[in-house]
Amino acid sequence: LKAQAVRLEPLRAKLPIWEHQGAIRAALREKDVLVMLGETGSGKSTQIGQFLVKEKWMDRRRVSIPSGNGDGKDKEVMVGGCIAITQPRRVAAINLARRVAQEVGCHLGEEVGYSVRFDNKSSEKTQIKFLTDGMLLQEMLHDPLLKRYSAVVVDEAHERTVGTDLVIGFLRGLVYGKRKGLKVIVMSATLEVEKMVLFFEKERDAALAFIKSKEGRSRGKEKNVVEVNGNEDGKVNDGKLSNGIEKGEGRKKRKRKRKKDEGAPWINGNPYDRKSDKKDPSPPLVNGESKGSIEGSGSSNRSSSENLDTDDEKYDGTVAAFKVPGRQFPVDIYHTPEPVLDYVEAALKTVFQLHCEEPLPGDILVFLTGQEEIEALQKQIEDYAQSMGKNVPQILVLPLYSALPPGLQQRVFQPAHEKKTRKVILSTNIAETSVTVPGVCYVVDCGKVKTKQYRPRIGLESLLITPISKSSALQRAGRAGREAPGKCYRLYTERDFIPLADTTVPEILRCDVASSILMLKARGQEEVFAFDYLDSPGREALEKGFEHLCTLGALDMSGRINGLGHKMAKLPLVPALARVLVAAAEPEVNCLHEAIDIIAALSVENILLTPTGDEKREQMEEARKEFDRREGDHIMLLTLVREYESQQQKKAWAEKHFVSHRAMQNLLDVRKQLKQYTTHFTSSSSPPPMPAATVTPDLAARILKCFLKGFLHNTARLVPDGSYKTVIGNHVIAIHPSSVLFGKRVEAIVYHEFVYTTRAFARGVSAVEMGWIEEGFVGGG
Ligand code: ADP
Repeated sequence: LKAQAVRLEPLRAKLPIWEHQGAIRAALREKDVLVMLGETGSGKSTQIGQFLVKEKWMDRRRVSIPSGNGDGKDKEVMVGGCIAITQPRRVAAINLARRVAQEVGCHLGEEVGYSVRFDNKSSEKTQIKFLTDGMLLQEMLHDPLLKRYSAVVVDEAHERTVGTDLVIGFLRGLVYGKRKGLKVIVMSATLEVEKMVLFFEKERDAALAFIKSKEGRSRGKEKNVVEVNGNEDGKVNDGKLSNGIEKGEGRKKRKRKRKKDEGAPWINGNPYDRKSDKKDPSPPLVNGESKGSIEGSGSSNRSSSENLDTDDEKYDGTVAAFKVPGRQFPVDIYHTPEPVLDYVEAALKTVFQLHCEEPLPGDILVFLTGQEEIEALQKQIEDYAQSMGKNVPQILVLPLYSALPPGLQQRVFQPAHEKKTRKVILSTNIAETSVTVPGVCYVVDCGKVKTKQYRPRIGLESLLITPISKSSALQRAGRAGREAPGKCYRLYTERDFIPLADTTVPEILRCDVASSILMLKARGQEEVFAFDYLDSPGREALEKGFEHLCTLGALDMSGRINGLGHKMAKLPLVPALARVLVAAAEPEVNCLHEAIDIIAALSVENILLTPTGDEKREQMEEARKEFDRREGDHIMLLTLVREYESQQQKKAWAEKHFVSHRAMQNLLDVRKQLKQYTTHFTSSSSPPPMPAATVTPDLAARILKCFLKGFLHNTARLVPDGSYKTVIGNHVIAIHPSSVLFGKRVEAIVYHEFVYTTRAFARGVSAVEMGWIEEGFVGGG
């Protein structure tokens, strides 16, 4: 292990961030909060922990904190010793931990570890711990002061996931409240630095006002103006690549190998207006030269007597900002002249055009929206590649998406044979900033992303494929220029680029805020309207979320979290599913194992494969009869899981039934973890799960009633014209073709999710009785 670490050292030393480690350390000796902007691949995520782990402030030590009993007294506690580095995605957390463990030269879970939902590889020894932001929030339930940690690094802050936003809000409260001296580092590739710096500064003012009013002491002079230069419009991201991506026109001579008019589908040029381009090759995102620079709002040589606090903790109360310039080679950007109808097909053509015309080495990175598209394109490329002549280099297709098992994800980091093989990586937006794939010279960008969209009107959340933002488009293009000049092929027109939003709307503004509210309340933040959100979801959405939690029974009449709410908050599930599990664990209901199996199945995408061709379809229908259930999809999934488990030859069985063996393995993983989360729910005497054949109608009804407890807002009834209308709101909704109830008429349905494609569909549907729904509304309040 140590030898490998030594071998990796020269690679680390080549990362752009390497030469700034002294400055970063110095900044954090002086300030508690550092906002760091650094391009993707500059080494932020892998190096920051290693830079800081030997700092003196890392040592575990005794501090006094308010006792919290309301007696105004302090108590002593031990804090520190570990650095938390949060990631929005579990893939990134796992990958980074693996990599950093190699670089440090330890086993995963020793000095370097990770903790993500359903998977924990960290120990008492762990000093650098990668975790998802959701996991850190989960830890805060038991340890709201984050006592384990000396520092928390919030990585990929520009993604602005709900988790990231809440973590940032809490951290701000902590550094100026009960955890003075906790170091907070906010890092991102395209962060709105100014906003973040001001966000942390403002809290200092509030804290100072509080301290003053409490103690009547006058402390050193306040300075709260941070000098951060953005571009004219204050956006950092738009200038970010401007030192890299240059206009295509200027580079025609160098790059074009393609013969004129030979079906060239691309318009050359970068439509993005980059005023600062020529004047300033490296825009001053943060004050200072184009080399990395540290700036803070307080002067760095402020004498100690000016320090703002009297504790032995050095409390400066100002924020440092730092920019790590990346290495960005020019990237030519091409748009299609006409809109493409099918971007998967367009991607296929583009990949082969590039493969046949561009020399090796130079891998291709294709951005698509999800696993389904990726698998479809992978198959097409592989089929097509087989029919190519021997004198064309080989193609190695590598998928990359969150649900892919870590071992397979790791393959994108391994170089292909430079002269013989071209890697084609098919990725969701995880390769946009969170995973840096080496060797890429060509990017093919479909211009779309799958995001969670919340509709406050109908109170439903759904996954939708939407256009990306300009900021994302630039990031994606930038992936082509990490190691050499590159090219980016956008599968959309220049005209379609212009109206794209500048940046992605923060998730907290798009999503069901019920989870966020429950998370806040469970961590003692009852006043959710008053929480300092980086961007507040707004009154309407917060009220809807409140309402939803009340329907679920998680809040009492006055809106405070109750015992049920606390129980739900401990589960790493959306409130609706958490409610289902709590209901299923009740002794008289007693179907926790079954509910867990179903939830695990619902959490994994694409379990059931759809073959093409009539003959295969017939085979499928015949084989699937074994687990077809008239109660609907929930019980069907349960039966499927039980059948699968009882098989000796699982893989063969899965194949025969057109079930994804890989998805089933994922499902079993999720199930294992869910069981761990719920061990305290059941007494050890609860009966073991029953085999499939014994899912009696009575048991099925019990299970579905539990699902109703969580999904009363997702119910619909049959109306005389044969369609379904939602119980709340009376909207027309159709059963999705993927459901076993498709085309069937039942009295009423409960459904797992609402999807809107050509029309409103219910997906994951089961038959229920109207009486149960009515009972639910009466019982649940
Ligand atoms: P940043 O956070 O600035 O985007 P990272 O620290 O994530 O940069 O990545 C630095 C370098 O480490 C990149 O070149 C990336 O390809 C490499 N890297 C990251 N994870 C792995 C891994 N699991 N295996 C091999 N290389 C990796």
